[in-house]
This record gives sequence, structure tokens and C-alpha cells, in this order.
Amino acid sequence: MNENIFWVWRDVRRARKQGLDAIKQRQHERLADIVSFTRVNSPYYRELYQGLPERVTDPTLLPVTNKKKLMSRFDDWSTDREITLEKVRPYIENPNLFGKEFLGKYLVITTSGTTGTHGLFLVDRRSLSVIGSLFLSMTSDWLNPHDVRSFIRSGGRIGLVLASGTPTATGVSITHFASRLGKSLRALSVRAPLPELVAGLNEFQPAFVISYGTVMKLLANEQEAGRLRIKPVMALVTAEGLALDEYDHIAEVFNTKVGNLYASSECPFMSYCCEQKWLHVNADWVVLEPVDADYQPTPPGEQSHTVLISNLANRVQPFLRYDLGDSILQRPDPCPCGNPLPAIRVQGRAADMLTFPTDDGEQTTLPPLLFGTSVYHIPGIEQFQIMQTAPTNLRVRLRLEAGADPECVWQSVHNNVTRLLSDHKLTRVRLERAEELPEQSAGGKYREVIPLR
Ligand SMILES: [Zn+2]
Repeated sequence: MNENIFWVWRDVRRARKQGLDAIKQRQHERLADIVSFTRVNSPYYRELYQGLPERVTDPTLLPVTNKKKLMSRFDDWSTDREITLEKVRPYIENPNLFGKEFLGKYLVITTSGTTGTHGLFLVDRRSLSVIGSLFLSMTSDWLNPHDVRSFIRSGGRIGLVLASGTPTATGVSITHFASRLGKSLRALSVRAPLPELVAGLNEFQPAFVISYGTVMKLLANEQEAGRLRIKPVMALVTAEGLALDEYDHIAEVFNTKVGNLYASSECPFMSYCCEQKWLHVNADWVVLEPVDADYQPTPPGEQSHTVLISNLANRVQPFLRYDLGDSILQRPDPCPCGNPLPAIRVQGRAADMLTFPTDDGEQTTLPPLLFGTSVYHIPGIEQFQIMQTAPTNLRVRLRLEAGADPECVWQSVHNNVTRLLSDHKLTRVRLERAEELPEQSAGGKYREVIPLR
């Protein structure tokens, strides 16, 4: 099957027209295919799926996996025997290799997230086709002819405010597709001080602005205060969800449409939102199961404990019935927007912002992902948690990988976080090294950043 981006895009459009049954049929066939492929090529899954029927179209027959289990069997998990953790690691640790293809065919991305274990994943070309086609579908759903004309008139400029320097799923995928746009694309690092970001965006005047939820919120504040002056045709929020009224606020401030992609490193093409602010699951390429704490199905209309996903595109490292750790709610009735795909809302991804007093007596707010992206490429860290214990005090908890040198890791963490703080004029903020390991919250999840109460 020729699964390039245009083939996938046409198939996605066709499936949407044919309706939910056609989408389900594709889901069943693709699940059966990837399960058979995985059993043959991944020693981890071969072992896990012993005793299952030969052809599996029902995802509930599959045992559940999670990040910790897969990362601990990294070499056995992948379906390409050339891949080892040892060979992949330099692609995360060496900035010169960021964004370069591993073995000439895979992209390497990292993830932190709420489940607490640090992930290192590979994305294959088939996945990139699905990511790209979903992006095309979303923009063609969202933009009317008037928007398209405005987009072209404004020079078609796309401004990315992402975590450059760290290969996150969103950064890698968008940059991959946008890299051919040359001067129409400007990537600004989310780590830059806010006035620098504002100046960069004012100068570039993007027609499309793409960033994380918390960063978009900060940009909206800047626009409201009159320091940021941009007129985007669309603002796209990715990776971190926000509260519903916060999308309205951003739309109002920028006088634009606000799109939202719910995605994860494990499945960067999961869903995108409609004008009714429901996220429609791309069910021809992902199986998404809302479940309770015992992995039993949660009925539509009820909040789930977690969600299991099966990514039907990425063959190199299959995520099958994988516990993502997000609590979601599936809409019990059809969405008024007319899209037949399952509609969900996600809880618990609205991130925790940290507020500090700056050196010149003002206040500044940093999105939590800045801390994760400063730290996670340091070798030896399995888990990281930062807790604000006073306005100018941060307590850092670390869980190290076996064999890591604690002094060495701490020195790098200290240097990186101190640099981040001083870039934001927060030299009064002190870092404190905790004896204890990262702690779980009452719901059993690890929060990477815990703001002062
Ligand atoms: Zn809808």
C-alpha cells in the first residue's frame, strides 16, 4: 500500500464521507495488521501476545502496556532489530543530531508527561504521513475561503513558538512539514524571554501562530496589554489543553479562530477540535478507549480514569493498548457540528503555571514545559519533579537511571535550570536539591511542576 501523505489524506476524506461504519472497518483492519506485524517483529509483543487468537480485530483482547514497561524493554519493543537504546540516545543528547533522521528513516522524539517516566520514541514515515494529512484535514475544515485569502495576502507566514532544541513530538512533526516553507516559517524558541518572543512575532507578523496552550495564554496577555500586535488568521494550540473559556479569551483577544490539537508523543495525530470545542478522534488511525482504574470501559458521558490508545500508524515502535494517563469524557450523543467521529474532552492537561517575582520587582509567569525541556535531554534522568515551596524557592526531585552519577546529573540540572531562570530575570530564585524521589499526586499521577499553593 502506498501510504504517502496524499494517499492518507484522500483516504481520510473518503472515510469521513462514507461515515462511521467505514471508519470502524478501517480501524479493525489496521489493528489486525499492526498486531500481526508486531507479533512477528517485536520480541516484547511476541511474548506479551502469546496465546491470543491469530487475527485480532478487538482491541480489548490485548494486554495493557505503559511507558515504563516499554522503556524498560526498549530494544525488544521495536520492530526493527537495528534499533537499540544505546544507538538512539545520542540523538537526544547531542544538539547537532536534533531533527536528523536515525538510520536514515526514523525521527527521534522525547516525552515527559504526567505518567512520570521519561520516554524516548521513534516515529516512522508512515506516521509522518498520517500527522501531515490530519494537519491538512484540520486546516481545510477550519479555514473558509475568506480565511485562505487572508492567509495568502499576509504572505502565508507561519510562526512557531515551540521548544526548539528539544525534539518533542509537536516540534518535530510541524517543523518536518514546514521546513520546505523557507522564509514563510519562523521558529521562535519558547525558552526565549517573553519580550524577545513578542518582538520576534511583531516583526514577523505570522498569519498562523502555533504554540502550547500555556504559552498562547501568555501571548494573549501580551496582545491585550498592547505589547504584542499580531493579526493571525488562526491560532493553533497544541500539546497542552486549556479550560474552555481560555480558548474563547484567546480568540477574542486575537480576533481569530483558535484550533486545538489533542496529541501526545505516543500518538501525535490523535484528534483536533471542531467549532463546538469537542475534540474529534481520528478513529481510522487510532483506537481510543476511555477506561476506569481496572481498565474496564467507561461509558460515554462519564469521566474516565485514564485512556488506552492504540496507534495504528507507527510500526517501528508500536503503542498498542497503551495507558496514556489522561482522564477524558466522551460525548454520548452526536456532535452538533456534524462530524461523525467520536467526540471527547480532556481533563487534567491544563498545565500548572509558575509565578515568580522578577529582579526588577515585577511578576513573571513561566509555563511548566520550560522546565521539562531544560532538563530531559540530560543523560541519566528517569524522572523529574519541581516543587515551588516559596515564591523564590524551587525544590528539585530526581529519579535517576541505574548507573547515573548523582553529582554529575545534579550539576547539569542546576546549570540548565539556573540559566532558564536568569534568562527570565529570575536570579533571586534558588534551587534546592531534594533527598526524596518525585511523588505521586492523590490521583496516582506525577506532576512535573507543582506551583506554590
Ligand atoms: Zn464536533
